[in-house]
Amino acid sequence: MEKVIIVGSGCAGLTAAIYAARANLSPLVLEGRQPGGQLSTTTLVENFPGFPDGIDGPQLIMNMHAQAEKFGSRFSYSEATGFEPMNSHVRLQIDGEQWLETQSLIIASGASAKWLGLQNEEKMIGHGLTSCATCDGAFYRNVPVAVVGGGDSAAEEALFLTRFASKVYLIHRRDKLRASKIMAERVQRCDKIEPIWNSVIARYVPDQKGEMAAVDLRDVSTQEERRLPVACVFVAIGHEPNAKPYAGKLEMDGEGYLVTKKLVESKYPGVFIAGDVADRVYKQAITAAGAGCAAAMEAEKYLSGLE
Ligand SMILES: Cc1cc2nc3c(=O)[nH]c(=O)nc-3n(C[C@H](O)[C@H](O)[C@H](O)COP(=O)(O)OP(=O)(O)OC[C@H]3O[C@@H](n4cnc5c(N)ncnc54)[C@H](O)[C@@H]3O)c2cc1C
Repeated sequence: MEKVIIVGSGCAGLTAAIYAARANLSPLVLEGRQPGGQLSTTTLVENFPGFPDGIDGPQLIMNMHAQAEKFGSRFSYSEATGFEPMNSHVRLQIDGEQWLETQSLIIASGASAKWLGLQNEEKMIGHGLTSCATCDGAFYRNVPVAVVGGGDSAAEEALFLTRFASKVYLIHRRDKLRASKIMAERVQRCDKIEPIWNSVIARYVPDQKGEMAAVDLRDVSTQEERRLPVACVFVAIGHEPNAKPYAGKLEMDGEGYLVTKKLVESKYPGVFIAGDVADRVYKQAITAAGAGCAAAMEAEKYLSGLE
């Protein structure tokens, strides 16, 4: 029987691992399909405290990993595929086969940004293609940028980006926003935002260094294409929480995010939830790390109570 299993090795999972390992619990961390989580897909991170010159996302993750390992965390590339809460422990299925038993579980499986599914998309992420204006907006001062989407988050990202960019194109495949009335009105009133209706991005156009230089837009009614120079594209079409194994067993909101009580608690004693898998609002490395810390401290308290 394990004492603590942590599902996920992003900022939340690794911070939980550091705290649980330092509490002598020797946690087992399941890394899943994206070891290191979302930060492993980005370049410079400028808003994680403690790094005044910024730090490369993958480097930050490698540091957290080394710190967790140093105190005795164990790692496995397995994926959690099934979840069964029992009276005094939890059964967790890995890779669709084996079942592990654990006294406590920390679910830190994050969320995946939805992308457009274009050909060179994976290569462009972190090179002028991102899903987070709060994270990357400040890198694009006095240059034109584009936001893709038509909901509240697209409207919010576009408005936020007007603080930095010379122009914000809001690309939407329909002829009006699906955002709330108040957000749509704010967008309309803002001179710096230019909506481009009935249009989709057909392809990203990188420069010679592989950084975003332009996008090719396709009008969905006429199929005509035109090139739009932009330094960055912010895709704001939503996130998908990685919470499938818990469907029907843990509480979820309408978008599939896990619901917590008191920051990290689930409805089962001993099962804690941390980071983007339960966060539809902040979605930041530091908030995920903070929740990971809280989850590990709660798990430690829960295990002490069992003794
Ligand atoms: C391009 C980009 C740039 C960003 N830039 C910044 C930035 O500059 N500053 C900032 O603060 N934030 C930034 N963010 C947001 C930040 O990365 C996230 O808020 C943070 O990574 C969330 O951490 P997490 O641990 O909750 O989840 P994630 O990082 O999503 O990690 C989830 C982990 O869970 C694992 N997993 C998922 N399902 C399973 C399963 N079934 N079994 C086992 N493991 C599983 C995955 O493999 C992964 O290891 C950025 C995000 C992106 C996409």
